[in-house]
Amino acid sequence: MVEKLKRSAYIVIEAERCKGCRYCIAVCPVQIIGVSKSTNQMGANPVEVIVGKDDLCTGCGNCATMCPDTAISVFSTREKS
Ligand code: SF4
Ligand code: SF4
Repeated sequence: MVEKLKRSAYIVIEAERCKGCRYCIAVCPVQIIGVSKSTNQMGANPVEVIVGKDDLCTGCGNCATMCPDTAISVFSTREKS
């Protein structure tokens, strides 16, 4: 039996911490982060992962590193499939 290793990475954005500076959008190599139409309690439009593009996250961590408000967490796992 052949086992394939499937790489899976994703981010979680805390919308209430996001001030909408868009630094994370600028540094994402696969351009999966966009601006939400909703408004948070700071009056900012927080960012979100673009619908249908979440599978493209490489887990590089650029977005979390760049965020001045630590609003993004990156998770990366390896699963056997
Ligand atoms: S971890 Fe990398 S690929 Fe994933 S959303 Fe952040 S910048 Fe983009
Ligand atoms: S870098 Fe942080 S504060 Fe700025 S838009 Fe992205 S998640 Fe929001």
